[in-house]
Amino acid sequence: MTGETNLEERRAALEAIANEIRQCEQCPLYSARTNAVPGVGRVDADIMFIGEAPGYHEDQQGLPFVGASGKYLGELLSLIGLSRTDVFITNVVKCRPPGNRDPLPAEIDTCVPAYLQRQIDIIRPKLVATLGRFSMALFFDKNARISKIHGQPRRADGRIYYPLFHPAAVLRNPNLRPVMEQDIKRMLDLIKEIEKGGIEDEPPPPKQLSLF
Ligand code: SF4
Repeated sequence: MTGETNLEERRAALEAIANEIRQCEQCPLYSARTNAVPGVGRVDADIMFIGEAPGYHEDQQGLPFVGASGKYLGELLSLIGLSRTDVFITNVVKCRPPGNRDPLPAEIDTCVPAYLQRQIDIIRPKLVATLGRFSMALFFDKNARISKIHGQPRRADGRIYYPLFHPAAVLRNPNLRPVMEQDIKRMLDLIKEIEKGGIEDEPPPPKQLSLF
């Protein structure tokens, strides 16, 4: 009963954040949006997918990953026996950048602590799968290249961070399909690790020795 109440409180807190996002004017992206896109899925999801920013269809519908990328993400999830309703899906910034340009550093720096960080704190996912480089840069070395570190999990904060290509990048470059599908299938092992519980943080990488 307490657990259910707690779940209700978390659901209400997540919905309150969604309502704040829908009215947010904290960065210039609010002025061109049709709808803000807070995110969708389970409040107690073990797995959270974080993309970059809403695109045209997402802006029109107020939902994340509903265009071609979303359809492909759904296909990828089905490879590991999951559907959108089993996870939580959101983006780094919640409003569509005009013309689908990249989100600017100031927009990311405003939106992430205001909303994404609070969503993570409420959902407490065991695995955060980043989709694309903007999302990856929040949790991995900012200079890392996605082509080098995709599919390589990092255990920290009692959870697993898992960098993936953005589905839109894979749709633009079909050569990446087998790579993306392999990375997604590798999530099965990570999910088993989650189900066992007790994810051990990895020691931070050793400092590079100076040669000078
Ligand atoms: S992108 Fe984020 S910070 Fe900017 S207006 Fe939208 S919700 Fe607010």
